[in-house]
Amino acid sequence: MLRVYTCITQEHDLSLVVVAGIICLLAALSAFATLERGRAGGEHRWAWIAATAFVSGIGIWATHFLAMLAYQPDLPIRYDLARTILSIAAAILITGAGWALVCLERRAFVLLGGLVVGAGIATMHYIGMSAVDVGGFIRWDSTLVAASVLIGLVLSPVAIAADRRQAGRFPWTAALLFTLAICGLHFTGMAAAVLYPAAGTTLPDAAIGSETLKVIVIAVALVILFITFATILFDRKLARRDKEEAVRIRAFADAAVEGLVIVDGVEVIDANRSFLRLAGFDDRAALPGHLPALLPEFDAPDPSRTSEGKARESQLVSADGSTREIEVLVRPLSWKGRELQVLAVRDISERKEAEARIAHLAFHDVLTGLPNRAVFLEKLAGTTAGAASDSDPVAILCLDLDGFKAINDLLGHSAGDELLVGVAWRLRTAVGEDGLVARLGGDEFAVLQRGGPQPAAAGLLAERIITALEAPFDIGGRPARISASIGIALFPADADAPGSLIKNADLALYRAKAEGRGLTRFYEAAMDEALRQRRQLESDLRSAIEQGELHVHYQPLADLASGSIVGFEALLRWNHPQLGPISPEVFVRLAEEGGMIDRLGEWVLRQACSEAAGWNPPLKLSVNLSPLQFLFDDLVGSIERVLAETGLDPARLDLEVTEGLLIKDAAAALAILQRLKALGVQISMDDFGTGYSSLSYFRMFPFDKVKIDRSFVQEMTANPQARAIIRSVIGLGRGLGMPVVAEGVETPEQLEALRAEGCDQVQGYLISRPNPIGYFEGVVLKRPGEETQRRRA
Ligand code: C2E
Ligand code: CA
Ligand code: CA
Repeated sequence: MLRVYTCITQEHDLSLVVVAGIICLLAALSAFATLERGRAGGEHRWAWIAATAFVSGIGIWATHFLAMLAYQPDLPIRYDLARTILSIAAAILITGAGWALVCLERRAFVLLGGLVVGAGIATMHYIGMSAVDVGGFIRWDSTLVAASVLIGLVLSPVAIAADRRQAGRFPWTAALLFTLAICGLHFTGMAAAVLYPAAGTTLPDAAIGSETLKVIVIAVALVILFITFATILFDRKLARRDKEEAVRIRAFADAAVEGLVIVDGVEVIDANRSFLRLAGFDDRAALPGHLPALLPEFDAPDPSRTSEGKARESQLVSADGSTREIEVLVRPLSWKGRELQVLAVRDISERKEAEARIAHLAFHDVLTGLPNRAVFLEKLAGTTAGAASDSDPVAILCLDLDGFKAINDLLGHSAGDELLVGVAWRLRTAVGEDGLVARLGGDEFAVLQRGGPQPAAAGLLAERIITALEAPFDIGGRPARISASIGIALFPADADAPGSLIKNADLALYRAKAEGRGLTRFYEAAMDEALRQRRQLESDLRSAIEQGELHVHYQPLADLASGSIVGFEALLRWNHPQLGPISPEVFVRLAEEGGMIDRLGEWVLRQACSEAAGWNPPLKLSVNLSPLQFLFDDLVGSIERVLAETGLDPARLDLEVTEGLLIKDAAAALAILQRLKALGVQISMDDFGTGYSSLSYFRMFPFDKVKIDRSFVQEMTANPQARAIIRSVIGLGRGLGMPVVAEGVETPEQLEALRAEGCDQVQGYLISRPNPIGYFEGVVLKRPGEETQRRRA
């Protein structure tokens, strides 16, 4: 150290040393300024690296020779031209190689590049020294030589590292360190050299003298100064342009509706305002630098994510830690020579919510929130496909509420809805983890039960459900009770396909309903047979209507006071070729369910009217109408046509309707009743007392007659309540001027009781059973031969 110090202070012209140092610093600044552009990449990258090599090589050389000029060893010094040129070339080429390595931007290459640059300085120095001709010889202090090389090798990488750390700013630190590397190497190298003059040596001609050298060096120094300032100015201009461009791009990016994030691998470089807003950050500084902290799915610098070009759905972690559904589109971005990526981020949470809502709507019942039929069928198909063996049975429970329709009709639809929601809730609780509950529609529910020992498990579940429904529901503040019937079918025991499994559970349900309320029935093969028979009967009925296998019986209605027959009720009869007589209660319902009631109704009306048209005396004719006939458009028209065709006086026709007609859509039914009445026919209320509400119907429509249901008549002698009801109906009829008929009178006691109550007419086995019209000819009606005008259909 001391040796170096004395070497500089005693053997050098200090003012020239300072000049050398300044030239060196300028060269270093210039080199780093050009290096930055080389490192930034782009199409001119190699030109910038070459410029760096040139500036640094010449700078090192100029520093070296200015320092040599400052050296005053009291000896004439000359320089060998070839070696001098070689030293310049070596400085440019070797440092150039170093700079190129630095520009590769990999840590190991940057370090290696620094070492190569250091080696370049050392090579230049010692080739330069070998060009020195002092007319004597130089003895080298090997320790100091090693020290000088070490200084170059250590300080150059340090300077380069310092430059990298202050990227974008003016490279003062790096330039100073690099100057220290060059000057340190030089003066330590100088201290290592001791010059010994040798007498009689002649200096070669080709050698350059100090004076020439001074000119060259100063010229070079000027060139370097020029390049330096030019570079710095240019650089400033570029930097300003970059800055302006950055401001413009930022404004542009901030104007974008989409969130934009610029990343380098997993490092977040920048983001626009939309993104900050989306992620809930107030300003850019708060943004995490690590991409996965924002987008957990982007946790690796996956090169494939750019190639897709397709938006992918992901999640964004907001500033408050909450997540948000987003869509990300990744695009590559070349920026200042760096291969970056832009992530365009779009908020899709609203769309996702809408999608989820739509999906929920598609798969759930809106009212109860339970899975719907579609989901149930899909789950069932999946389950039965999975349950391959008997060891993993599946049970289906089909549920139907008993008397739900009545509650719906009586209390209104909103009450019905309330009840369904309550039932759904109890079902879900009762079933729990044991199975899937779905609403198939209306008041039909189904449960899919998987696993467990069958049929025991399904039986227990059904019991649980029935118990769960026992407690009354609170419907609009009023208690309402409802029970459910359950049909159960097992897989694979009862059916091997989902479709037939549901069908069989339905059959079991049908049976449960037929047998009463709140019952559970397991499917049995015999039910299939029952269904098959029902279908057969339905088709038999269809052809019976067409083939005229049906006929009409008549039951007389008698006036209680006079005892005379005032009319007949037409009652349908079907004598099945194989099964014998079938009750109209059975086949009328079959016709209603099979959609044949309109034809059946018209047939009976035509048949009865045409027969009645020929009666002598012209007694009244009562014909029953099913409530379902009111659903067909042309009921009034068809009755009008039948009357016209048969020639029956409308005043003789009495149409019997039941309370059921008025329960469903009273307004529509009343309108049709008015039109029928306008035809001149009479309307009777049949089966009175079996429906729900009662007396209000008489205020709604002026019925011509009311028929008390036979269940009251049959009870009246034993049950005072039944008698009280009959009495009040008779009182009501009298008040409204409406005759009252008692049905099903079987005993003289009943007849006497009815007479005592003041009933107007009676009908029943006591008077006569229903019979073909011929039965009454000669008794009530005149025989065909006894009259002149007789019409036949
Ligand atoms: P309904 O309108 O109440 O008819 C009276 C029913 O009571 C008839 O049963 C009749 O045979 C029965 N009956 C009459 N007197 C007595 C009696 O003293 N004791 C008992 N136990 N029963 C008596 P039927 O003929 O079996 O008809 C049953 C139901 O089928 C009828 O009840 C009616 O609702 C329906 N029905 C019959 N024919 C027709 C029709 O042509 N059209 C429509 N829509 N329904 C019909
Ligand atoms: Ca009737
Ligand atoms: Ca009746």
